[in-house]
Amino acid sequence: MIRYALACREGHDFESWFPSGESYDAQAKRGLVACPACGSTEVEKRLMAPALSRKGGSPKAAVEPDAKPETALPVPSPMGGPPPAAMTLLSEPERAIRAMLKAVRDHVTKTADYVGDTFADEARRMHYGETEHRSIYGESSPSEAKALLEEGIEVHPLPIVADDRN
Ligand SMILES: [Zn+2]
Repeated sequence: MIRYALACREGHDFESWFPSGESYDAQAKRGLVACPACGSTEVEKRLMAPALSRKGGSPKAAVEPDAKPETALPVPSPMGGPPPAAMTLLSEPERAIRAMLKAVRDHVTKTADYVGDTFADEARRMHYGETEHRSIYGESSPSEAKALLEEGIEVHPLPIVADDRN
């Protein structure tokens, strides 16, 4: 028996056993040697590997274990670990802004009339000249505020500062 390593025209490698080299030639010529992958009978020998009997207890040829491919060690990411929680530590500019917002709020609440939840109605009356224009502040739902803005009535949310609820 003889083993041939074969390859078809498409480049598929396969192996086949033949009683002899002449037998391979005969079979190949008659189109009996077909690539198992694509069925092509246009195959050619790649290399010949005669089957060797291993009688006599000769040790099997030690298959030299290929050196294991270098296993890429996971490189610890310098940015590893859970992402930090959002925290804030106010620096001087932020404190200044906060103080300014508080000043704005204090000014409005001191100088404007508090109209409570009639804010939207009051704002509308002033806008359409039904009442005298003055500064007011009060509560307004987001949809009311949006409606006012759509009517061209400029309203602003009062800045909220952290110590509002003291
Ligand atoms: Zn093939």
